[in-house]
Amino acid sequence: MALIKLDDLTVRYTQGRFNKKVIYALKGVDLEINSGETVSVIGESGAGKTTLARVLVALEKPTGGTYLYKDKDVWKDKGARKEVRREVQYIYQDPISALNPSKTIRESISYPVKKHLKLKGDELYGKVVELVKAVGLDPSLVDRYPNQLSGGQLQRVNIARAISVNPKVLIADEPVTMLDASYRVGIIDLLVKLKKEMDMTLVLITHDLAIAKYLNYKSEGVKGVVIYGGRVVEEGKIDDIIQNPLHPYSKFLVGSYIDINYEAAEAEDRGVQEPKEAVIPNQGCPFSVKCPYAVDKCKKGFPNYTVNRDRKVACYLYG
Ligand code: SF4
Repeated sequence: MALIKLDDLTVRYTQGRFNKKVIYALKGVDLEINSGETVSVIGESGAGKTTLARVLVALEKPTGGTYLYKDKDVWKDKGARKEVRREVQYIYQDPISALNPSKTIRESISYPVKKHLKLKGDELYGKVVELVKAVGLDPSLVDRYPNQLSGGQLQRVNIARAISVNPKVLIADEPVTMLDASYRVGIIDLLVKLKKEMDMTLVLITHDLAIAKYLNYKSEGVKGVVIYGGRVVEEGKIDDIIQNPLHPYSKFLVGSYIDINYEAAEAEDRGVQEPKEAVIPNQGCPFSVKCPYAVDKCKKGFPNYTVNRDRKVACYLYG
């Protein structure tokens, strides 16, 4: 049984008062995450990554499909929802806005510990010190305010808060994007170390393939999930996706854009125009407006997944 199972999950918004426009942040997402797994969700800005993260921590209610946690429907079972909110913890992209500027680090970390573990007094302080040390910070920092810490230190504080309630799953949403390059590797190393020590499941969401590659280097067998336009377009071992990307968007991601541009030029000769900006169509393959291989049927329906062992891809070029 998968720890997390998303089945045909959709999140749809409507925009505009009079001329209503429907936008799919996620559409028909099927995804299984097993206990202890390390998963990297990769996609560009606007692909639906943060919506997916918010769905996984039960902050966002899907407009269609189901979210099962330990086989229980999170949006039909209040108990399951409560379990998710405690056991699945979220690490935000922006470490500073995730913390209250008027609270000391000790107060910020104490809050979830008091609420969920019901500790107080010396026991509470002892737990705060233990958590701060676990994320590689000096306990003397606990009485400082967020504006007195660096970005890397603040992200460590956020990680300390997330692990304070002994979660089963950590969802790290672009955890190093807003940090100086010098802090990035340290934060990924820390997440991998805590995942192992606390026997957690780690889901790292990133737009940066280099981060996914580094995660894979630090913890073997990482599952990669490539999303584009709210759809999972490819899934498999990160190693396989990097060495042999199947979906045209994955090819673009792993740096074969020179080839894809060449093919795009060829496609242009065939009358296929490269759009000036990415438009995600609600119908058909979301990559169809950019894809040099697109044919008529790509614009009409989303392709079925072609599955080969632990690899799946949604593209008419396969299957
Ligand atoms: Fe390109 Fe069509 Fe495959 Fe989409 S389904 S990636 S448009 S070939």
